[in-house]
Amino acid sequence: MRELSVFAKYPFLKDTKTYIKDYGPSVNELLEDVLYERARSIGIERLDNALKKRNVENRSLATETDCIMEILSYPLARMVTVCVGDTYFKRRYALGEASHAYRNLLNEPISFLLDVSKELNLNVEHIGETQKIKIFFKDYLRYAPTRYKEWKMVNRDMNGGFVTLYRRELARILLELLRKRINEELDSHKCNNVIKKAFEVDINRFQNIVNMQKKKMEAAPVGKLSIEKLPPCLKDILAAIQAGENVPHMGRFALVAFLSSLKMNTNNILKLFSTAPDYQEDRTRYQVEHITGGSSSTAYKSPGCDKMRTYGICPVDKMDALCKKIHHPLSYYSRRWKQEKNKK
Ligand code: SF4
Repeated sequence: MRELSVFAKYPFLKDTKTYIKDYGPSVNELLEDVLYERARSIGIERLDNALKKRNVENRSLATETDCIMEILSYPLARMVTVCVGDTYFKRRYALGEASHAYRNLLNEPISFLLDVSKELNLNVEHIGETQKIKIFFKDYLRYAPTRYKEWKMVNRDMNGGFVTLYRRELARILLELLRKRINEELDSHKCNNVIKKAFEVDINRFQNIVNMQKKKMEAAPVGKLSIEKLPPCLKDILAAIQAGENVPHMGRFALVAFLSSLKMNTNNILKLFSTAPDYQEDRTRYQVEHITGGSSSTAYKSPGCDKMRTYGICPVDKMDALCKKIHHPLSYYSRRWKQEKNKK
């Protein structure tokens, strides 16, 4: 059995869940008993930190009580997130938990990272006496940020279907796995009315913050871009980037090529990407300039609707009446401008 401080740092582990089940209070005690007031307030702190800092952050784990309060704050934060009922908020919280785990994992020995990886069903193995790990290529492709040059398969050592990684890189893969997993878990739960009532004030506060942020995003022109006139496909991609999600390469490519066709400059495009969890300006600038033609002889064209569908980034369920009349996201955008002009 692991130590309490390990449970507190990694509350998503099976051992932590077992601990809560075996020794934790009932839901009513957790919500009402004065003994757990601190756990409730840490739960809310996790959410505030996830929103503001994209990391739920560490607190002192000096005593057994510190650890227990930290452990119990995790299910509380998740339950409140579900009741806030907003996709952007859920994504932000999932990223906050995953980034928090990542920062802690960077300080753990390889053996611990391997244990966590195996528990989360990654096919990994330590390579002999080295500081290297091998991971099955399917797991690698599922979670590695392959939009970056050094993560692309062509730049990795591969042997017998396994890709070689260093400890830090395995932690980065675990960040992405956890972010996805927490997102899925949050999406699969419904709000519990008891939680809703107990945290009504904070839930309303978070809903207001999120609504204000959304209005700001819609109202604030990025360059001369009108976000509310974007087609559903690019709105989705942009929202995912601004929520700090890792958007697949084709989505980022489609957005950059689209914005470049609207003559948006590189600095304004970069601003849109700056909230990504592992944003690095020089690398992102290089990629953006590669697509826009700033650093190469080719400027890529913004893909049309057929190509967007082939790439799997046309959200068919969100297509509106205008989508059915056009064949290119740029036509969608210009028609929305014309519609607005005609209204005046
Ligand atoms: S139909 Fe075209 S414009 Fe509309 S969401 Fe799909 S790709 Fe975007």
